[in-house]
Amino acid sequence: MSDTTVKMRDIAKDLLDKGTVDYIIGWEKGRFSNQSPPAFITSAAHVGRLIWDEYCLAGTAKYLLDDKFPTGKIGIFARGCDARAINRLIQDGQINRENIYIVGICCSGMKDPATGNTAEKCQYCTHPNPIVNDILLGDPVPETNKPERFKAIEELERLSPDEKYEYWSKQFEKCIRCYACRNVCPACNCRECFVDQYRVGWQGKQNNEDENRLFGLTRVYHIADRCIECGECARACPMGLPLMELNRKLIKDINKLFGPYEASMDTETTPPLAKYNLEDIEEFM
Ligand code: SF4
Ligand code: SF4
Repeated sequence: MSDTTVKMRDIAKDLLDKGTVDYIIGWEKGRFSNQSPPAFITSAAHVGRLIWDEYCLAGTAKYLLDDKFPTGKIGIFARGCDARAINRLIQDGQINRENIYIVGICCSGMKDPATGNTAEKCQYCTHPNPIVNDILLGDPVPETNKPERFKAIEELERLSPDEKYEYWSKQFEKCIRCYACRNVCPACNCRECFVDQYRVGWQGKQNNEDENRLFGLTRVYHIADRCIECGECARACPMGLPLMELNRKLIKDINKLFGPYEASMDTETTPPLAKYNLEDIEEFM
């Protein structure tokens, strides 16, 4: 058992014993050795389920939305990506910081259960240390800007419009509209999503390339300046759509048009698309 697992259990026990939190969200060992799914610990007697290993892939923050009106505080283990996701939810008015107790964990990256190699979402992680926390576990991991994460976008940008259309049509053909990408996304936090509307004029329910494309593009534009690059959407997609290519294209364009910006590094900075300047580029008007 790792030192971090021992410390996690000790901290969780203390928080639950003292009543600091009602329950705590972390990870536990799954059915297979290469699975460590999220766990919800409601009693100090169960802290032995908590684990920290190289397969704690899933984000924890989105689960905070399942409890909109907590009676007390919710404890949550948060890595760099989870901490930014928590900031995202706070900034979008979905949760209150005072209702959350954050146990930050400095993260060296997780493994892909299918290959045993570093998970794709961790290969391009720029902030592995939790930027917001009430208590921190582990020593901070060096951070790098990872400009190589935009390499695939630059290659796509070199394609002609027809080639781009063909490329993305093939991708959206594969989509089965399971909405796993939306469900895991901390920026997709509307209580009622446009795809769940049944009235005429909203998103069609057919599973075809056109409707799938409309879903994928509407979603990516909706989270354009709010995506925290956690990579959860691409990780969760059962059909292997390269969703981070869409997200990073918009991130790259926003950086170019409005200056360097990283979503949810704090809860105060207004995202670039949520404010208006007379100097804004308006070439599309
Ligand atoms: S779009 Fe994907 S990478 Fe961006 S915040 Fe949502 S899940 Fe994370
Ligand atoms: S997770 Fe993948 S298959 Fe499911 S709706 Fe999203 S893009 Fe489509």
